[in-house]
Amino acid sequence: GEGLAVSARVAPLGSRLVLLLVEDLTEARRIEAVRRDFVANVSHELKTPVGALSLLSEAVMDASDDPEAVIRFAGRMQHEATRLTSLVQEIIDLSRVQNDDPLDDAEPVEVDDLVAEAVDRCRHPANVKQITMATGGAPDLHIWGNRGQLAAALGNLVENAVNYSPVRTRVGIAGRRIAAPGGDLIEISVTDQGIGLSEKDRDRVFERFYRVDPARSRQTGGTGLGLSIVKHVAASHGGEVTVWSAEGQGSTFTLRLPEAGIARDRALAAAGAA
Ligand code: ADP
Repeated sequence: GEGLAVSARVAPLGSRLVLLLVEDLTEARRIEAVRRDFVANVSHELKTPVGALSLLSEAVMDASDDPEAVIRFAGRMQHEATRLTSLVQEIIDLSRVQNDDPLDDAEPVEVDDLVAEAVDRCRHPANVKQITMATGGAPDLHIWGNRGQLAAALGNLVENAVNYSPVRTRVGIAGRRIAAPGGDLIEISVTDQGIGLSEKDRDRVFERFYRVDPARSRQTGGTGLGLSIVKHVAASHGGEVTVWSAEGQGSTFTLRLPEAGIARDRALAAAGAA
């Protein structure tokens, strides 16, 4: 009787242990598959501009007696080289946000500063398209986090809003504080009157290298990595990014991040407990 009781007590523990090991292996395999996919995607994405550069350089050599053609090909080479540079930069940014813990050097970051920086970064393309950038919302909002990463995330959202909008439209950026059960959150929304997203694309735009229209994205210098960087930064700060969109009407991307005071107190409490 006793032996049976013991094995009955051990058996569920044992099977749970096996289950945990299996889950661990499955997770390790999933991570490995994601990594392999990423390397394959990177190779593919790098091959496109490198291949174009190689063809264009041949074309330049063949056109040596036609100066106008040489200039035209050289211009296209410059365009491909710029693309290659921004692709490499975004791959570096992505690996940085994936490897560094943003909260290692966290500080209170003022939302108005982030917004001003993002607007500044897009001033030129917005002017070219006569897009009005309207900033608003509550003053004196602070997020607890890594300034560089938060600036990169918001910058990406504003850049996309400008890139995927027609001329003479409006891009609105606003921050506000919202009460939530786990503590106050800071919400920053970026609203455009651009091409919008279908329901199917809405779920996928945060995936690495996903582009709704690769040709259009390439034209605007897009890499398909911007929103995956935003998603990663939001998650590692204990927040999230969501999208609302209607095709042909526009999109609103919303970042929700822990408010500085509350997040800092929690981090300090956790450090004290450790
Ligand atoms: P990209 O570098 O191509 O802009 P992102 O990861 O930033 O890459 O965005 C992924 C895709 O999501 C884009 O290629 C585009 O098709 C779509 N997208 C992003 N932002 C918007 C927006 N504000 N309006 C419409 N489509 C967008």
